[in-house]
Amino acid sequence: MNFICDNNLGKLVRLLRMAGFDTAEDLSHSYEQMIKQSLEENRVLITRDSKLINKINKEKLKISYVKIHSARADEQMKQVLKECKAEIPFDKLFTRCTLCNAGIIPIEKEKVKGKIPRHAFEVQEEFWICPECQHLYWAGTHWARITKRFREISKE
Ligand SMILES: [Zn+2]
Repeated sequence: MNFICDNNLGKLVRLLRMAGFDTAEDLSHSYEQMIKQSLEENRVLITRDSKLINKINKEKLKISYVKIHSARADEQMKQVLKECKAEIPFDKLFTRCTLCNAGIIPIEKEKVKGKIPRHAFEVQEEFWICPECQHLYWAGTHWARITKRFREISKE
C-alpha cells in the first residue's frame, strides 16, 4: 500500500517510511498536484485539510483518502492502518530512506568511515546508504525503540 501525505504530516511520513511503506510527501502546497500524484501513482491520500477532502468529494474524484484526526503521529498511524486495513510489514522495517523515500542499500563499513559518529562506527557492523540522497543508516538503539513503538501501534 502506497501513500501520499500533505506537508503538515512530517512525523507521520517518517514513521510510515520507517515501517517500510512507500510514502510520498507533498511539498507542492497544491491540491491539484497532490491529487494528480495520488491518482497517477495510486497512493492513498493522507491529510488533515478539510478543504482538500471537500474538494475530493465535491469533484467525485476516485481517490482513497484518510482524514487524520489526531495531532500525534502514533495515533495518526493507527488511524491510517485501521482505515486502510493495512498492517505494519515487520519484515520491511528500515528499508527506506526517511528523508526521500528511496529504498536504502547496504554499504561496506570501510566506506562510511569518517562520515558517521565515531561511536556508531565502532559498535555497528552493518550500514546502509540511500542511493538518492546519500544519507547513511545503521541499526542504532533507535531502531529497537521504534520497533517497540510499532508493536504498540499494531496491537489494537
Ligand atoms: Zn534518501
